[in-house]
Amino acid sequence: MKNFQVAIIGGGVIGSAIAWELSKYKVDVVVFEMGSDVASGASKANSGVIHSGINSPTDSLKARFCVEGNSMFQTLADTLGFQFKWVGKWIIAKNQHEEKELNRLQNVGIANNVPYLKVIDGSEVEKKEPNVSCYKALWVPTAGIIFPYEFTIALAENAAENNVKFLLETKVIGLKKQRNNFEILTDKGNFQAQIVVNAAGLNCREIVSMVEEPDFQVYPCRGEYLILDKNYSSLINSMIYPVPVKELGVLGVHITPTIEGNILIGPSAEFIGDAEDKRTTKEMMSTLFKEAKEIIPALPKKAVISAYSGIRCKLASEKSGGWADYRIEESKHTTGLINLLGIESPGLTAAPAIAREVMKMISKHMELQKKNNFKLKKGRIKRFSEMPLKEQSDLVKNDERWGRIVCRCEQITEAEVINALSNPLGARSLSAVKYRCRAGMGRCQGGFCTQHIVRIMEEQFNIGIDDMKLKSPKSYLFEKRTREVKDD
Ligand SMILES: Cc1cc2nc3c(=O)[nH]c(=O)nc-3n(C[C@H](O)[C@H](O)[C@H](O)COP(=O)(O)OP(=O)(O)OC[C@H]3O[C@@H](n4cnc5c(N)ncnc54)[C@H](O)[C@@H]3O)c2cc1C
Repeated sequence: MKNFQVAIIGGGVIGSAIAWELSKYKVDVVVFEMGSDVASGASKANSGVIHSGINSPTDSLKARFCVEGNSMFQTLADTLGFQFKWVGKWIIAKNQHEEKELNRLQNVGIANNVPYLKVIDGSEVEKKEPNVSCYKALWVPTAGIIFPYEFTIALAENAAENNVKFLLETKVIGLKKQRNNFEILTDKGNFQAQIVVNAAGLNCREIVSMVEEPDFQVYPCRGEYLILDKNYSSLINSMIYPVPVKELGVLGVHITPTIEGNILIGPSAEFIGDAEDKRTTKEMMSTLFKEAKEIIPALPKKAVISAYSGIRCKLASEKSGGWADYRIEESKHTTGLINLLGIESPGLTAAPAIAREVMKMISKHMELQKKNNFKLKKGRIKRFSEMPLKEQSDLVKNDERWGRIVCRCEQITEAEVINALSNPLGARSLSAVKYRCRAGMGRCQGGFCTQHIVRIMEEQFNIGIDDMKLKSPKSYLFEKRTREVKDD
């Protein structure tokens, strides 16, 4: 049975941020992730917004960690090499009644130490956002955008490069507290650890219930999105939010630019019984489109290229208003079990600050000594399509795989696909490739590149046709061969 000092359950942004912080210290750490890659849950499927901190009540943990996390992002992006833009956010009021809400949000923001907030007349907003009409708007310049999976992958990969062990496709199925240790039962064997960090997102209650009676419930709440084609990127310059919906403890359907120029519409908010129910529905797609069109009348239907959904981990039911604060605490009954409960929005923003808080909790149990050989990633590696012609041709001259375009829509080369498949976590699904180098993310959504990626997986990584997966442990791409190909 392998023994670790710290075991983290869940390789979402929270587990990965904690793993990254721990990887700076001389600690033996393991991360169990039941998905085929990190960012398999909410950390992949959200708006990717780095929030400013105006939406959570002053003195709440959500406000504290959001504001702290927000202030860390520029440095994190520069060092870990993920893309990040301060695009800013408009919260728009359609009438005088909604203007009151803008003033309330501004006051909350000021109390939470969010700088540079300003209420601006609709006519001024129109100069910046010609496709948006409103009565007034609150300008929030300290809101930014990232690709949430890119951030999570960057944290996890750098942690793995610094000796944190990531066990993908490994589900924790039992937990036993012994005298000074936990025995952790997984579907791939048993392990021991001194400290267990429960960062299992929607499954946080299930993990607690393995050792004690949980004193909380989880209420899954689905948010669906539409993705627009890059050709429509000029419709907006910043994020456009309505005033928040009071009843559900969510921010309402907003319109968000992404770093690569796609636009996101969503998320909806629908409390659901089954936390696994990630479907997108025709009804919700048309509701989202209708709501977005109220904000941007020029929005054409043909701009929509795809849809996805993410599930919020709420600790408050729809009936009780849907809002509850985070619970970041060591169990009172099970020493050494650190629980991260109800980490819904702004959890992506808050993750780096939450990770530092968890470090303080861990340091009460063990002495944390800094490593002197910690290898920090140094900035972002440019994609082939972003390189000047000279750099491109030098690469192709040395290695012809740089000259073979695998994904036409996003202009991704064979060499980039190979680099993505060589990741330090050992993630080998089609999605692992997509989220590392964007092959399959364009207009045709993998229609052209899938066959080429499959060939690379088979020929260069020895992955058998029967073992190829789309994104999760059982999502096999092929059922069986329909015919054998004979070599002439
Ligand atoms: C629709 C939506 C929009 C959002 N928008 C934003 C936003 O714009 N900005 C923002 O700051 N926040 C946003 N959030 C919140 C943010 O996405 C979450 O707070 C954050 O991703 C939570 O991360 P996590 O690591 O706790 O959970 P997850 O990402 O869900 O990770 C938990 C991981 O644990 C794994 N796991 C579970 N059980 C087990 C087990 N038994 N064994 C092994 N592994 C297990 C899962 O596979 C999963 O990968 C949004 C969330 C949603 C749903």
